[in-house]
Amino acid sequence: MMSVTANDKVELLAPAGNMEKLEIALHYGADAVYLSGKDFSLRNFSGNFTLEEMRTAIDLAHARGAKVYVAINIFARNEELQRIQRYLHELKAITPDGIIAADPAVIDLAHRIAPSIPIHLSTQANTTNAAAARFWQQSGVQRVNVARELTLAEIGAIARSCSLQIEAFVHGAMCISYSGRCLLSNFMARRPANQGMCCQPCRFQYTVMEETRPGQFFPLAEDERGTYLFNSRDLCMLDHIPALIKNGIHAFKIEGRMKSIHYAATTIKTYREAIDRYYEAPERYDILPYWREELSKIANRDYCTGFYFDDPTQTLPLYQSPEPSHFPMIAKVLSTTGPTHVYVDVRNQIRTGDTIEIVRPKGPPVEDTILGIIDGNGKKVDVAHPGTRATLGLRTDCQPLDLMRRMACANH
Ligand code: SF4
Repeated sequence: MMSVTANDKVELLAPAGNMEKLEIALHYGADAVYLSGKDFSLRNFSGNFTLEEMRTAIDLAHARGAKVYVAINIFARNEELQRIQRYLHELKAITPDGIIAADPAVIDLAHRIAPSIPIHLSTQANTTNAAAARFWQQSGVQRVNVARELTLAEIGAIARSCSLQIEAFVHGAMCISYSGRCLLSNFMARRPANQGMCCQPCRFQYTVMEETRPGQFFPLAEDERGTYLFNSRDLCMLDHIPALIKNGIHAFKIEGRMKSIHYAATTIKTYREAIDRYYEAPERYDILPYWREELSKIANRDYCTGFYFDDPTQTLPLYQSPEPSHFPMIAKVLSTTGPTHVYVDVRNQIRTGDTIEIVRPKGPPVEDTILGIIDGNGKKVDVAHPGTRATLGLRTDCQPLDLMRRMACANH
């Protein structure tokens, strides 16, 4: 069998909402990350990057052989266009590997100002057919993130009809509307989704109030926690990697620039392993049971296959509140001070005796126990608190950026 190089493989494209998330994405095996500056992207609340930070991020990613795509995927207003022009000049100087855009005005400006940077059409442009894809190709776009509402067969037909790179979401939250074409957030919070300020009211809990009885709320009780009318379930295409690749998808995108590093590490690592396993023996691709277990340990709204298989049951919202993760991330490894002495950034309370899992880039998580804790002043303690740093005694060797999650408390 011919060996498959990294360049022949489908690209794993991961969210990087800030510098820490970028480091995590690279550590856990992303081929490329998408991020944005402080303005002009659809995730204005995810921290994002100053220009200097973006420059550092690009250097860091390139040193690891990964790519960086910068999102400018708002639908711009007239008064924003001048600032976008200036921003594109700045981006030209730091040369990201792609610009993600949806608005034809932004695409046109990017072509004129930074012609050497490839343009990737955002899912916000809702490309739903082959003719639209060819239109964008003729407009100089090199990659299209196809609409999330398409079936796999439709995506395959688009891929065969043009020589564009086809990118598709494989994991993460979905919109209840055509991706981003939604005014709920504008109406309810004056935060326009297409200006990057969606406050996600589709996830809120709703009740009914009869007009003449203000303040009396009639619950629409799907379960004891209420009803979440518009709460889309999360996409997960782990089982279908061979079909996605055979249908010409070039890049697998994971949603979630605003989500935690625990989410990022777990999803990126799982898809990394799955993609690599597929290329080792495409005809024998199967799911390792711990991949599914890993994805169930992060907060999720139940997984579904979205619109890929034209199955209406998959796209029903989850009418209950989402399950929080029962296994909180407790620490990020900063360095190792001895074979089993690990200096960490504490994110949740840690107690001596806690049963934990260490999430590493490769392989199943490793179970361990906190054998001892030394606080930032060098004092032996029983508890480390969030927001502090501590040295933990463990049995397992760790690497910087490995994460730890609590599986059971010492006192339970
Ligand atoms: S409110 Fe929900 S459906 Fe609407 S744009 Fe925001 S995330 Fe999407």
